[in-house]
Amino acid sequence: MTEAGRHRYLIALGSNRRLPGIGSPRAVLEAAIAALAEEGWHIEAVSGWMASAPVGPSLRRYTNGAAVIAGDLEPAEALASLQDVERGFGRERRGQRWRSRTLDLDIVLWSGGAWHAHDLSIPHPLFRERDFVLRPAAEIAPDWRDPVTGHTVRQLAARLS
Ligand code: ATP
Ligand code: CA
Ligand code: CA
Repeated sequence: MTEAGRHRYLIALGSNRRLPGIGSPRAVLEAAIAALAEEGWHIEAVSGWMASAPVGPSLRRYTNGAAVIAGDLEPAEALASLQDVERGFGRERRGQRWRSRTLDLDIVLWSGGAWHAHDLSIPHPLFRERDFVLRPAAEIAPDWRDPVTGHTVRQLAARLS
């Protein structure tokens, strides 16, 4: 056990909306890192931010990045903590309706290997196909190994480019 916490998580961050009071998607991601620290996470590393093409129906470009965070929470509670932060940023009241999410925080890998619950899969099922996850992840956690394929993050990133 270290001072930073028992577990380490590699997380992927994404935003494709400005948030009033905060600003650009990049500012949202920077503020999200600060919010994670306030939630008690120890921030071990943060990648650079990159712009990527939209995924799915949205036409807005995404800003993406990755971070390594450490803490004592097990995966289920860790996801709940990330979702608390998403809620704090991601949704804005307009009348009665919730608008689309500004902030997406996914768990890509954690220090405990593979983990599956009904609402949580680690490794993230799609991370091996996503340049916008692997490129920033390779900046900060190149030697972290995917427990399913045995490949490092660096190797997975290299396979895509
Ligand atoms: P994608 O998973 O393709 O990146 P998304 O991030 O847009 O899609 P969300 O609507 O944010 O999807 O999340 C849907 C559900 O995914 C969450 O409620 C959560 O329970 C589940 N989930 C499963 N595995 C993970 C993971 N590794 N990290 C985050 N959420 C996960
Ligand atoms: Ca996602
Ligand atoms: Ca998500």
